[in-house]
Parts: sequence; structure tokens; C-alpha cells
Amino acid sequence: MISQTILIVEDDISVRKLLEITFDQYGYNYISTDNITNAIINFKTHNIGLIILDLGLPDGDGKELIPIIREVSKVPIIIVSARYDENNIITALDSGADDYIKKPFSISELLARIRAVFRRKNTQENILDNIICSDLELDNENHVIYFKKEYLKLTPIEYELLKYFIINANKTLTHRQILKEVWGIGYQNEMQYLRSYVNILRKKIEENRTKPSYIKTESGIGYRFCCGNKEL
Ligand code: CA
Repeated sequence: MISQTILIVEDDISVRKLLEITFDQYGYNYISTDNITNAIINFKTHNIGLIILDLGLPDGDGKELIPIIREVSKVPIIIVSARYDENNIITALDSGADDYIKKPFSISELLARIRAVFRRKNTQENILDNIICSDLELDNENHVIYFKKEYLKLTPIEYELLKYFIINANKTLTHRQILKEVWGIGYQNEMQYLRSYVNILRKKIEENRTKPSYIKTESGIGYRFCCGNKEL
């Protein structure tokens, strides 16, 4: 993975430099650009393994790039944005971005997000293997989940929801995304379904439901399922 190139799309020179210096230091290949037009050209002409995308760019909104990329590729996209505007983030995630990080960000946080994106990519490519996430183990082939090595009793929807969370661990998921993927098209606005099932799952796997360590609420956006990974 590390041999693939990271495409940096960022017009703020200081942020771009910081990213470049960091990637140099950690041995990631990269190319950078400050606009959408060149980002598309670079994407088509290089083997890009990850895109770091700013939203406010001189020739448009970075969000416009996401559907263009998604038509042809599942390459991970991490939004880097100063605009802590929930609607922008939700739109970006719903149109296919994998994660977001707010400016100003710490380098260790950025690197952790990048590693998480790459790990997920591997997990999704090896979905037939059991996935271990802290005390949870998804046995995808047999449609069961173990918690602390014991069979976890789940209804079909609970199983599908927990499986979706485990497969997408450490990723911010919007309410609409989860509803669409787990319940199906047409359920995107059934927020109450999701809330109830999250409550049920929390009862089954969280030690302290008021301070969940697995199913974290991303206020106003959705949920992030954490695998006991301390850096995230
Ligand atoms: Ca910008």
C-alpha cells in the first residue's frame, strides 16, 4: 500500500507543506495540487492509493471531485477541511468520502486516519476471513459474531448492523449511509430505527452505555465504530 501514491489536493500552502514534509518523513509517495482540474488529471495519470482532499479550492468545492472519482474508483478519500460545517461533512461522506479530519489537525491524528483507511481497505478485500475488533469477532462465513469469545445472540438486523460497523471500523458513518446499507434504499430517513438498534447493541456490548467504547456518537453526523484502537 505504501508504494502507492497519495494525492494531496490542498490550496493552503502551509497545510500542503506540512502534509508533504510528513509524507516524506514517513515514506509515503505523494503528488500535490491546489485545484480540482489538476487533481483529476493527476488521478488519471498515476496509481493513486489515497486522496487527501480540501473542500475550499480555487476552482470549486472539493466535494465536486468525489462523485467524479467514485464513478471509476473506490480509492479512499479523506476530507481535510477547516469548515466545521456538519452539512458539508455529511454531504462529502454521503457522496463517498471515507473520512474527514478537521483543520487544524495533529500529524499523529492524520497518520492514524490514514492507517485506518488502509487497514479497512485490506479488511474489505479479505472479507472471507474472520475480522477481530477488540473483544468482538465477526465470523462472516457462518453469520455469527462472538463477544469475549462467546456467541453473541443477535436478531438478523442487529447482526447486519454490527457486521456493518465492524467492517467499517474507525470510519465516520452518516445516519443515512448506515440506514441505506443495513435497512435498504427507502429507509434513509428512519433515524429512529437506527437509534433504537444502536441502543440495543450498546446494551449487548458496551460496559458503560453512557461512555461507549465501541459505538461512538459523532454528534449531528452519525456514528463511528471503534476497535479499541487507542490512537483513534
Ligand atoms: Ca482551501
